[in-house]
Amino acid sequence: MTQTVLVLNSGSSSLKYQLVDPTSGQSVAGGIVERIGESTGSATHQWGESETVRDAPVPDHGAALRLVLDLFDETGPSLADAGITAVGHRVVHGGAVFTEPTPVDDDVVTAVRDLIPLAPLHNPAAVKGIEVARELLSHLPHVAVFDTAFFAPLPAAAATYALDRKVTAEHGIRRYGFHGTSHGFVSSAVTAHPAVVAKLAAEGRGPETLRQVVLHLGNGASASAVLGGRPVDTSMGFTPLEGLVMGTRPGDVDPGIVFHLVRAGMSAPDVDTLLNKQSGLLGMSGVNDMREVRKLADSGDADARLALEVYLHRLRKYVGAYAAVLGGIDVLTFTAGVGENDHRVRSGVVRDLKFLGLSIDPAANEARSDEARVVSMTPGPRDGSEPLAALRQGQEPPVETPLVMVVPTNEELAIARQTMELVEGS
Ligand code: ADP
Repeated sequence: MTQTVLVLNSGSSSLKYQLVDPTSGQSVAGGIVERIGESTGSATHQWGESETVRDAPVPDHGAALRLVLDLFDETGPSLADAGITAVGHRVVHGGAVFTEPTPVDDDVVTAVRDLIPLAPLHNPAAVKGIEVARELLSHLPHVAVFDTAFFAPLPAAAATYALDRKVTAEHGIRRYGFHGTSHGFVSSAVTAHPAVVAKLAAEGRGPETLRQVVLHLGNGASASAVLGGRPVDTSMGFTPLEGLVMGTRPGDVDPGIVFHLVRAGMSAPDVDTLLNKQSGLLGMSGVNDMREVRKLADSGDADARLALEVYLHRLRKYVGAYAAVLGGIDVLTFTAGVGENDHRVRSGVVRDLKFLGLSIDPAANEARSDEARVVSMTPGPRDGSEPLAALRQGQEPPVETPLVMVVPTNEELAIARQTMELVEGS
């Protein structure tokens, strides 16, 4: 019988869920409950081709999960027959405590709650989600998978802020990094991709030498530098505010701006809201969705054009910085909503990075596909067979030519796999 994992991702006012078969990689069913705690709520449940929508107030996360279980009951698939082996919970912040997927018990819930000061916007919802799921699905093992865990091994030089060491120690201040589940999933998919395997073989190198830069460009956005599967730097830091320009967050800003605004009369909570919800693409152009920014820019809107320039400038800066950190780049990979879908962002980043050997093949870049793929120019190998075939034909091997790739991320599948591994191994 198929074994599945129910993956839960609790946000402050939403509950996303997916029933995943970690062996086949298929999502069996899934959906989202939105506007939890507000006067109007709604749930959308998908199973195969069918989509069921329920509009009704959902007072809290307990009611949201009950609604999800009812939807499975009423519209299918039946959870009793779905072979659920475990529940995997996405938790944003694992602090210094949780560096690996962890079976959930009372102590773990307490420890995740203790981390709320580090992630006040994210961990409270995770705690609620875990609590209600343990109550309603008490017969199943629960596993917490942390968004920070992949970055736990960051070298001290990358993880340390140059602040007074007594302050950093007392307050747990370091670069934690976020989107780790995605960076881990995508960087291992890159390492296993036939084009990359063939490139390493052609160059006579092992995977431990592979230098990757991964750009996770969704509503939130982050970059990572990965050497031989291990992270050596990442753009998000103590919080998910640092680094790239995002939908509503500015990424890097001079911390002096915060004090200037406070001195000018803005309250600390207002600055918090400004930085988390009113900045980035939204702040600069009035809209946070990249598709909307594009529409405005294409219609000649000067603010939207500038927003795109700032967005791309920051990306190029990080790719260049990570090339320096890694001593070169073998593969630059784009992932998440913008990275997977917006070919102009990809070409805009790569266009001015020819000095790193990076290139874009316009046809490959503009072709739509859900598959992991290479979008750089030949002589970079397009698939697993080409470079070796080229070698056999006595042609010049594509040595040292970095690849540019698009690799769809799948955080739910990564959480399901890590959950299943832990449950099966215990
Ligand atoms: P998150 O998980 O961070 O909410 P996603 O990875 O789903 O975000 O990415 C969402 C973003 O992807 C949207 O805000 C939108 O800007 C962008 N996006 C989705 N499709 C496209 C597209 N076809 N072209 C440009 N941007 C897109």
